[in-house]
Formats: sequence, structure tokens, C-alpha cells
Amino acid sequence: MRLISRFLVFCVLAGLAVAQTPAGKTAGSQSSPDVPKYVPSFDEKSLDKTADPCFDFYQYSCGGWIKNNPIPADQPAWGRFNELAERNRVILHNILEDAAKATNRDANGQKIGDFYASCMDEEAINKKGVTVLKPEFDRIAAVKDKAELPAIVGYLHDHGVSAFFGFSSGPDFKNAKEVIAQADQGGLSLPDRDYYMKDDAKSVELRKAYLQHVTNMFKLLGDAPDKAAAEAKTVMDVETALAKGAMDRVERRDPAKVYHKLSSQEWQALAPSFLMANYVTDLGTPKFTALNVANPEFFKSLDAELKTASLDDLKTYMRWHVVHEFAAVLPVPFVNENFDFFGKTLFGAKELRPRWKRCTAASDANLGEALGKVYVEKYFPAEAKARTLKMVKELEEALGKDIQSLDWMSETTKKQALVKLDAIQNKIGYPDKWRDYSSLKIVRGDALGNAERANEFETRYQLNKIGKPLDKREWQMSPPTVNAYYDPSENNINFPAGILQPPFYDFKADDAVNFGGIGAVIGHELTHGFDDQGALFDAEGNLKNWWTPEDRKAFSERTECIVKEYDNFVAVDDVHVRGKLTLGENTADNGGLRIAHMALLSSIMAGAKAPEKIDGYTPEQRLFLGWGQIWCQNQSEQIARLLAQTNEHSPGKYRVNGVVQNMPEFQKAWGCKPGQPMVSQNACHVW
Ligand SMILES: [Zn+2]
Repeated sequence: MRLISRFLVFCVLAGLAVAQTPAGKTAGSQSSPDVPKYVPSFDEKSLDKTADPCFDFYQYSCGGWIKNNPIPADQPAWGRFNELAERNRVILHNILEDAAKATNRDANGQKIGDFYASCMDEEAINKKGVTVLKPEFDRIAAVKDKAELPAIVGYLHDHGVSAFFGFSSGPDFKNAKEVIAQADQGGLSLPDRDYYMKDDAKSVELRKAYLQHVTNMFKLLGDAPDKAAAEAKTVMDVETALAKGAMDRVERRDPAKVYHKLSSQEWQALAPSFLMANYVTDLGTPKFTALNVANPEFFKSLDAELKTASLDDLKTYMRWHVVHEFAAVLPVPFVNENFDFFGKTLFGAKELRPRWKRCTAASDANLGEALGKVYVEKYFPAEAKARTLKMVKELEEALGKDIQSLDWMSETTKKQALVKLDAIQNKIGYPDKWRDYSSLKIVRGDALGNAERANEFETRYQLNKIGKPLDKREWQMSPPTVNAYYDPSENNINFPAGILQPPFYDFKADDAVNFGGIGAVIGHELTHGFDDQGALFDAEGNLKNWWTPEDRKAFSERTECIVKEYDNFVAVDDVHVRGKLTLGENTADNGGLRIAHMALLSSIMAGAKAPEKIDGYTPEQRLFLGWGQIWCQNQSEQIARLLAQTNEHSPGKYRVNGVVQNMPEFQKAWGCKPGQPMVSQNACHVW
């Protein structure tokens, strides 16, 4: 059960968790494939030299790659960072296969090995059938009165079943030193509330397919076809009612709109029919007297729905969420049905990922730091950390100079911005303090039990933070993840070991290419501290204004330029990029590449002699090519639609073209002339 109780901002879209499962074998029966070669960083073969860089720089950088890298059948989309993520997956797979076979294991080795082996044991999972869910279904069936709902919902949330609403912990936006309880909207199965409400043909068609999917899942549980169809309709009705009370994604980007610190009594008053005291008792939270209720209106509509719907209907809805949550560890027909809708129809993947990939991903998701510790010991040398820190320092210096040079910001606000920049902490590679998994029991041969206990372990872990000081040593991503993030409440940037390798960072490549790759990504994360969201938090991570009103106004005018620019871009068919949804990411892309360019020039100036052309390109041109090539991608039509609607990142094409057309530095490096598409007539410039 996860909710947005904090504004972590990532550099790439967080893992496309396509609901997936098997061409299965048991662990140990597959020979471990060799670790694939590194993904190349700058690669001449990926270019399209027939394209004009001043006309379409993305096509010039990526045209060859796009042509030669069709989407693999088991993926909904394919890009350079997917290539790297798949390489990391093979490494993790080898570690897991070894741990599954080993006889002499430490405690973490037992956990990762047995978790993975149980997930791989398709035969055992098939043999047990759906009886594994019987205890949960019996519990739901035994509910006799709506007054018993809070207790059962507490139990389900404890076990990772996200029914009705979300509840977890997170830093207090206005007192970031402390972690508080957080309650939020939730309880949906489709990716966004809009999926339940939009009336265009595609949305109507998707809802029809979803209804069929829920029907099929109930049929697999043994219900008669008519009954299953009626149950699916019930699920749709309950979820639609919850969706109507949910807040839009764009609205949710404003921290003030999702911060409502209420007393427990005030929270209770929003939903009088649902006794919160019983809920938190069954969930087992530490005691608290106040919490953040991110969307109070949602709890009012939840209350209305709980009053209107029959108890039987609410029980049907909970039964659905149980089977939906655990579909991946159920027998093959459930896995296939789950993939048919969520993987194929919704995401556009053609085939289910092989079982080893799914089980590797599940092991990483549930035991990320136990597995990640082995990964960094083997694949993340100390010098990689030292090199990254050196680069971070160069980017921080560049951002400092950039801030000082801004003509639209007063000295007063600049001073505050520099205080904030100076306070940003850098976390590189892996946690200094590893997570302790000793209280999590993993039993070989019990895939469902392991999934439930891992969920429970995670819930306990998150809830136990309530009332405690914020621990900034923690990570929100596992070390092998190909991604990075800025955390505004902690004011730090976080780079897992998984992204600190080619194509993002290549120790064999020239500086220019690396500044365009990982350098610009570091710049991107630093800029998040100053995008439309980040700028609302101060150096200590508190939601507190540090701007003069005039500077704030000038800033908003500049971000509005970015909104308009990206609103014009077409994601797929008639679907446009949502300028307001992607504003923070686009601001970070623009700032990130600009300061990476500044850092490259400083490093060239500091060098003994001017660097020469490589492959016929100047260092500045290679920086832009480095940036262009990390975003090469192909996407299914389905995922392109889904991401345009729900994701805060622009498609690869606009992460490249949307940025370079704003940059005189780019135009000079490539000799572009006014009137050409990569020379914007109304160039946006925030940072
Ligand atoms: Zn980002």
C-alpha cells in the first residue's frame, strides 16, 4: 500500500510494473546466463545522419537506435534505460539463482534465495490452487455488520491489500524533522481516477475490457458466470464512487492542496460511519493524535459510499482487491488473465515476461536492500562512488553560478536559493545503514505466504516511523534501480548504483558525453529542488516561503512558458503532453542540461589544452548527443496514451527537443538558424 505522502521526484518514469507471469521452471533448473555487455554510452550507430540536427535533434541522435531496436515482445516500451535495467536484472537473477542453490547461506541469503525459489516454483503454486486465499476470503465472509468494516480494512491494509483508501507515514510538510501518519485517497485498480469517468471511445472500451477482466477473475475463483459478471459490476460501481472523490493528478502536484493536518477527531468527523479508532487498532499503528489527511473530501465521499452500498457489495469489492493484489503468486490461469488485461490491453505488451524476470523483479521489490547489498559488493566499486561525487560537486558549482547570474531574481532571493543549494545532501550508490530484515520470515515453498509477510513487514516498517524523527539515511529505491530522485522534505539527491553505469556514466567515454548523460541527470535532480514544487520547500525541507513576492511572480511567468511549450507537443495521435502535469520534470530537464553544459565548459577551461573533436564532433556537440541518446525509445500506442495521461515525465522525444530548442548554447554548437524547429522563437528559461 503506497501513497503519495511525499513528493519524491524521479529522473525517469518509475518502473513499468506490467502485471506479469510464466514460461516457468523451478529455481536451479536454468543455467545462469552471462552478464550482458555494457550498454554503449554515445553510439554512432544509433544516429540518423540523414536527419538535420537543427530540424529534429531527437531523430538525429536516436533515429538509428529507434530503427534497430524494436520493442521486445515482453515489454510495453523500450529505451536506453530499459537496456540497462535488463542488464541489471540478469545480474540480480544470477545472484538469486546462486542464493537459491547455496547450502551455506547467511540470514539474508536464505531470505532472497528462498523468496525467489518459491516464486519460481510454478508447479507448487499451481498445485495449491486458490486454497491459499481461503483464510482471507473467510475473514471477509465472516463480516456480519458494517460496524466490523474498520477492523477488516485494517487487517487488509496490514497485508498490503489496498482497499478503500491509503494509509502510511511520511514527513510532516511543515515540520520535516518529524514523521507523521498520512491518510489519502485510494482503493482503485485502474491507473487513475480519470479512467473511471472519461467518456471518449478509448476510455469506454477500456472500462468494458476491465469489467470483463474482473468477471474472469471471479470465474477463476469458482463463481458462476452470471454471478461473476454481477460482482464485476459491483467492483466497478464501488471504484467509480471512490474515483469521483479523488483529486486530479495536476492538483495533487501542489503540496498545499495535499497538506491538511487534522486531529484524529477531525479525521473521524469526515467519515462518521467508519470508526477510525478500530481501524488503527487493527492496523497496529503507534499512537498518534494528529495526521495529514491529504484529501479530506475523499473521506467524505468514502463515507457516503460506505453508507449507500450494501455490505455484500463492499465484501465483493474487498474480495476482488485480495485476488488482484496477489495475482502474481497464484496459479497460471490467474497470472495469464491478469497479464491479458493489465499487461496487454492497458500497457500494450505482447507477451508475458519470462517467469525469472518477474520473480527477480518481485525479489527486488520485496527484499531490495538484502539483494542490493550483494549487488553493490560485486558491481559497484568504491571509485565509482568517488567519481560520481566529483561530478556532483561540479554540477553544484555550475548551478550556484547559474543562480547568481539570473537577471530576473533579486539578491535577497538569490541568497536564500544559495543557502538551499548549499544544504542539499548527496547520497550515492547505496545506503550507509542497511535495512534489517531479521523479523521477516521467508519460507521455501510458500510463495503467497512470503508475499503476504513481506507486505506486512513493509507496512509495519512504514507505520513504526510515526512520531519518530525523519531518518534521512533511508532510501526510497533499491541499489540496482535505474533511476534517481530528489526528496524535497529531506533536501537531498539520491543516485542508486544501478544508474551509475553506461549509457548514463561510462568511465571509458570522454567527459563531454558523461556530462550530457549522468551530468545532466545530476543537474536534473538538483534543479528539482527549484522547480515549481521544490521551490516551495526551504533548505530544511519545510513547506515555507523563501521568495520575495516579485521574484515568485517572475518565476511563475517563466514556468508558465514551459507549460505552454510542452502543452503543444503531441504524445500519440490526438493526445497531447500535459504541460501542467509535466512541469516539474520539464523544468528539471531544462535546468539540468543547461548547468551540465556550464560544468563542461568550466572543466574544459580548467584543462591544459583544448579537447579535440571525437568522431567528428566537438565536445559541446557530444554533450548534446550524450543527452539525446539517453532518451532514445520506442513505445506501444497503449503505453504512450497511459503515460501521457498519468506520468509526470514527457516522452523521450520532447525531453530532447523540448529542451534544446530553448538553448542558444545548443544552437551555437550546431550552427542552427532562426526559423529552424530547434530554434524556439519564444525560448523558455527558468534556471
Ligand atoms: Zn525528475
